[in-house]
Amino acid sequence: MRFRADLHIHSVLSPCGGLDMSPAAIVQKALEKRIDIIALADHNSAGNLEALEEAARGRIALFFGLEIQSASETHLLALFGERKSAEDMGGLLYPRLPMIPNNPDYFGDQVVVDARDQIIRMEEKLLLQSVNMEIEEITEEVHSRGGLVFFSHIDRDTFSVISQLGFIPEDTLVDGIEISRHLSLEKARSRYEEYTHFPFITNSDAHLIDDVGCVSTTYELEAPTFEEFRLALKGARGRKIIYDA
Ligand SMILES: [Zn+2]
Ligand SMILES: [Zn+2]
Repeated sequence: MRFRADLHIHSVLSPCGGLDMSPAAIVQKALEKRIDIIALADHNSAGNLEALEEAARGRIALFFGLEIQSASETHLLALFGERKSAEDMGGLLYPRLPMIPNNPDYFGDQVVVDARDQIIRMEEKLLLQSVNMEIEEITEEVHSRGGLVFFSHIDRDTFSVISQLGFIPEDTLVDGIEISRHLSLEKARSRYEEYTHFPFITNSDAHLIDDVGCVSTTYELEAPTFEEFRLALKGARGRKIIYDA
């Protein structure tokens, strides 16, 4: 069966995320756009994943993400099948962010909410910064928690592995490449032909509610589960990414 997934969505916890980006609203919008699997990926934090899980229960399949900013200012999309694993990763990252407070007037508020859009607390530390970990260490920590790592939006000219390092290191253990909504997977695979031994995926990276599900990747899976997703990335046992969807 084919499933459409948008696995990189920011909530109100991301300082740049719109204030209407509550987990409940994101689930609603994804359903309207006929997306089958979603993941939140707030900057360096898993704080709104519990609310997302509650808002989504029985309505849409979920993976659990964080967008991690490495010391080299490279964004990495980390995805997990279990909320606890993503939260554990968030717990590891938090003390590794510099003690710089958020400036809501400049960056926007960082809001932790519940499944009914009620504010639980404001996150005071600025989340939009680099953790003091390099790509290799982050990848190792994500893998040790059963997760998968993607180089975020490699075609963007800021905060991508190409903008920061100029290339993708040959010895990387990162599991795949993400393309921004500004380039189709088909075009990306010819522009970055030297990297087509990696799986390519695309996601909305939505910061505004109307952008949720504006692009998605289609997967051939038996069921919308993380283990099936892992098989599809490898092209194993008939599971695969549909590049011409
Ligand atoms: Zn990013
Ligand atoms: Zn993002």
